[in-house]
Amino acid sequence: MKIEINGNVGRTYCENLSLIFFPGEKFGASGGSDRTLRVSVYTECGSVRAEAVLISGDKTSRGTGFFPAGDGRAEKIAVGRAVLEAGTEMLGSAPPWGILTGVRPAKISNSMAAAGMTESEISAKLQDIYSVAPEKALLLACVTEEEKDVSLIAEKDTCSVYVSIPFCPTRCAYCSFVSYSTPRYLSLIPDYVERLLVDIDAAFRRADSDGKRVISVYIGGGTPTVLEAKTLDRVLEAVEKNLVRRPLEFTVEAGRPDTVDRQKLEIMRSHGVTRVSINPQILDDGILRGIGRRHTVADFFNAYSLAKQAGFETVNTDLIAGLPGSDRNIFDDTLRGIIELEPENVTVHTFCVKKSSFIAGKAAEDGTDGVYSYSGGDTPLCVSDSQKMLGDAGYRPYYIYRQKNARGNLENVGFSKPGHKCLYNVFIMEELHNIYACGAGAVTKITDTPDGRIIREFAPKYTYEYLDRKND
Ligand code: SF4
Repeated sequence: MKIEINGNVGRTYCENLSLIFFPGEKFGASGGSDRTLRVSVYTECGSVRAEAVLISGDKTSRGTGFFPAGDGRAEKIAVGRAVLEAGTEMLGSAPPWGILTGVRPAKISNSMAAAGMTESEISAKLQDIYSVAPEKALLLACVTEEEKDVSLIAEKDTCSVYVSIPFCPTRCAYCSFVSYSTPRYLSLIPDYVERLLVDIDAAFRRADSDGKRVISVYIGGGTPTVLEAKTLDRVLEAVEKNLVRRPLEFTVEAGRPDTVDRQKLEIMRSHGVTRVSINPQILDDGILRGIGRRHTVADFFNAYSLAKQAGFETVNTDLIAGLPGSDRNIFDDTLRGIIELEPENVTVHTFCVKKSSFIAGKAAEDGTDGVYSYSGGDTPLCVSDSQKMLGDAGYRPYYIYRQKNARGNLENVGFSKPGHKCLYNVFIMEELHNIYACGAGAVTKITDTPDGRIIREFAPKYTYEYLDRKND
């Protein structure tokens, strides 16, 4: 897509607005479709006025947006409204999140709450300013309310430690994460772990010298339980020996049910792990095979029951709405199956095609963009069903994030039974305190800077690079 801008608004923002209507769209000279978005923005009579012209094939649509001048967001909101009007006219329906394009929508609603607004005032303002649909505005206001107590826990002298295990038993067809699943890459695990143990010590030392208490630890991936039991034991031992006192929460993202067994779960418990994630994604063997996951529905139930027997305080299950081959019936059956198990946390993701995934590559090869979907087919119904059914079963939505190119522009939401919110998910999403991260691809975030700007320190993304740095 070609973007033509006349006025004071960023190109990236205009691209992100275009992606709402044309998910998967490419920009720049090197490629993309024959579509064009023309935007102009200017100030007249105390108001910022924006105009958008959207051209796709033989269709042209137009939109106009206004916002009072003098507000730092005026240009963005006016342009957002203009593109929203043009896109809605062209596609025939309005997007659920209106002009919001960011990953962390709760940042906006949290700042409204911090200014003293009530839940219903926040919901009304999200609809009024950003054209968020009423259902989504209510959801966001609700998440904001649920995040309040977690943000009180994130006092200035607290922090989290994140440990990355970027290996998986197989690669999911939709994944773009730099995670290694072939035998050649899995053979790097012994060297990787040696280096990681050194970095875990360093992360804790740094937290200590910064005067921080570690209140949450998260071992994520990839699939940390792809490690053999004795290797997992060493990693957890390295964490435990550094902990001055028991953290409020200690999570291991087991992820793939086929990597979990009684021995590994008992090792986790023996090192003080309190929360484990066991992810079915969908309760349908055919779909699981189709997306490249090696486990079955029976593997999930078995791993879940082992985790419960091992006595974890909190078990999370991840689901994905809108998977290829799935539909509302299959997804709702999955929800019913999960609700019956009564896990303390359920995270509902919306299927999202990442550009470097197998699915996106195959679609590009076939010359089709059919994997992307503006309307999302019946995925919006699946997502609404999840919110209704989990709400009826006593769960509350407590964190939220969005990804580009998600089917139907929909969100990912973490739900929790009372007393079981995953603190780390809120800490990282709302950037509430320092996170000291170690391992390939890990990102350390320092939030308590003098000017309030967050400093991100990126560890090498690829395992080879990460291991090479050992010899620096
Ligand atoms: S389990 Fe997660 S990280 Fe591993 S391949 Fe699948 S989506 Fe990617």
